[in-house]
Amino acid sequence: MAGKKYLFTPGPTPVPPQVLAAQAAPIVHHRSPDFRPIYESCLTRLREVCRTERDVLLYTASGTGAFESAVANLVSPGEPHLVVSAGNFGERWATMTAGYGADVDHLRYEWGETPDPEDVRARLGEREAKAVWIVHSETSTGVVSDIQAIAAVAKEAGALTVVDAVSSLGAVRCETDAWGLDVVVSGSQKALMTPPGLGLCAVSEAALAATGTSPRFYFDWERTRKAQAKLDAAFTPSVSLVAGLDVALGLLLEEGLEAVLDRHIRLGRACRAGAKAMGLELFSPDEDRSAVVTAIRAPEGVSSDDVVKGLRDRFGMTIANGQGSLKGTIFRLGHIGWFDVFDITAQLGAVELLLTDLGADIERGVAVTAALEAYEHAPVADTGTA
Ligand SMILES: *Cc1c(COP(=O)(O)O)cnc(C)c1O
Repeated sequence: MAGKKYLFTPGPTPVPPQVLAAQAAPIVHHRSPDFRPIYESCLTRLREVCRTERDVLLYTASGTGAFESAVANLVSPGEPHLVVSAGNFGERWATMTAGYGADVDHLRYEWGETPDPEDVRARLGEREAKAVWIVHSETSTGVVSDIQAIAAVAKEAGALTVVDAVSSLGAVRCETDAWGLDVVVSGSQKALMTPPGLGLCAVSEAALAATGTSPRFYFDWERTRKAQAKLDAAFTPSVSLVAGLDVALGLLLEEGLEAVLDRHIRLGRACRAGAKAMGLELFSPDEDRSAVVTAIRAPEGVSSDDVVKGLRDRFGMTIANGQGSLKGTIFRLGHIGWFDVFDITAQLGAVELLLTDLGADIERGVAVTAALEAYEHAPVADTGTA
């Protein structure tokens, strides 16, 4: 069908029509009574979704911009910091913190490995750090790390914990207050079902008290915190995106955060079950926590470039290739945000058709059947403690 397009990447993600409609409303002035109730509602709902009582600072920026706010506020030149990386985004934060002059201890895993809290404990035992920087869902590999355990280890060592929850917030359990996460960073265009353009940062009292000497202005936490407290934004916010995000957060809360997390667990299971039924090898872990994106190895003799291009050219479907050295090797099927099981079966059915045409020996229909079957079952036990 000409023009029909499907967006199946783990960010940006499809945006529900109610959110698009809210964004199409006439522009209101950000210092007027037309905007303040929207701003207030959005900031309140953000606290609920972040599971925090503290301030969630909202920036007109992508997720990387919000992350840079954490770096600009917390890193002073020469200070020791521990960055844990196991993929593209972790490596970005190692580069960024070093760029601000931090003395970076880089606990670096191979892409696809899962960070081990005991390794973090050992590194902090060897060398103190002001903060531990960790990615919750490493979108480049599909690995979701145990940030609860890592934050506990950091706290024991007297370090702050800064979490990149850009692709996990709203998809995987992230208990900001209960787990003692000092800074949680996210963005609008992943599980929060809103177009790209807003970055957010939940910040603890301890983090606010630990700000350093790096130059900053737009991203100065205190400036935004004070302004938000009066519902009088420090700078002109993207009022349309805030209106859209408010509606999207309302949809999440209406479904119920627990139900949303359950749905993502089942979507992840469905996706993995479908891939395995086709005889494909998973690159991401086969575990419930891996609920953001499923990374799959392209079969012997097939480049993932051809899978990505084939889905785009033949079916109008956009999926993600591998990043960095994994490009050509893995392809990634997203399942965060405004996704139901038919978004999973559409991807799997298309992959099955494409690979069969490329000569793979796959029994037709197995992927969709396995996915629907796996989606049926409610999650047995929740992986969180709160
Ligand atoms: C998407 C993503 C980012 C980057 O966000 P931008 O909005 O593109 O700046 C950072 N970390 C993770 C884990 C992501 O998935």
